[in-house]
Amino acid sequence: MTEFSGKNILVLGGSRGIGAAIVRRFAAAGGQVAFTYAGSADAAQALATDANARAIQTDSADRDALIATVAAQGALDVLVINAGALVMGDPLTLEPDAIDRMIAVNVNAPYHAAVEAARRMSDNGRIIVIGSVNGDRMPFAGAAAYALTKSAMQGMVRGLARDFGHRGITVNSVQPGPTDTEMNPADGPNAAVMHGFMAIKRHAHASEVAELTAFIAGPHGAMITGSLQTIDGAFGA
Ligand code: NDP
Repeated sequence: MTEFSGKNILVLGGSRGIGAAIVRRFAAAGGQVAFTYAGSADAAQALATDANARAIQTDSADRDALIATVAAQGALDVLVINAGALVMGDPLTLEPDAIDRMIAVNVNAPYHAAVEAARRMSDNGRIIVIGSVNGDRMPFAGAAAYALTKSAMQGMVRGLARDFGHRGITVNSVQPGPTDTEMNPADGPNAAVMHGFMAIKRHAHASEVAELTAFIAGPHGAMITGSLQTIDGAFGA
């Protein structure tokens, strides 16, 4: 596959899970792919070698480091903002610092990364954030702050699509439902409850989310912007 041949692609949070599947998808299609990670150095190095991609350690919670990393990639064709944290529990007892860190990674970082990328992005570039169906629907207790972060992404992509549209740059959110990763294993204790909300009662594979991301990033995605692309087995329907 040469669909992304010569394209300069950055995936924020690419060492594991959905992000790693996205790195593999773009690299397999000829893209020059760099990806960031925070803690999983071994997984990042293994993926970099295997997929012929470049691993960069940058914690998305460190705003200045994140902006510097995005700027250092030059004129990007595609930015995928996948890095995300999930903090769940009783809001009355959750640590405020843990909530603030989640908001820093899931909300502040995507905004600053998208804006920094747009400063030097090629015309007709693509900015894609991995949101969540929980931006639309939160049927469980204990995840209000996580849902808050994913709803925030919906407003961000709508607004930035307006800001960058005159350059042909598209800005979209891919909203997965339950997807089999370390964050949300298909055999985890809450899987059956989640499947109960779905028409197709299984976790998605990370590769399925990567495929939708690649479509939006590709030539057929030129008129898709300011949109929420949900891939959730009807969890949110
Ligand atoms: P995982 O926890 O399996 O992987 C998260 C990835 O993001 C890792 O590569 C991790 O790197 C990276 N990451 C996390 N925090 C940071 C940070 N501060 N700086 C840089 N990189 C970071 O999660 P998933 O693959 O499941 O989730 C990916 C995205 O998809 C998230 O935004 C999540 O909210 C969203 N999502 C997931 C769903 C699911 O069911 N799995 C459903 C809906 C949305 P490292 O380990 O190196 O820190």
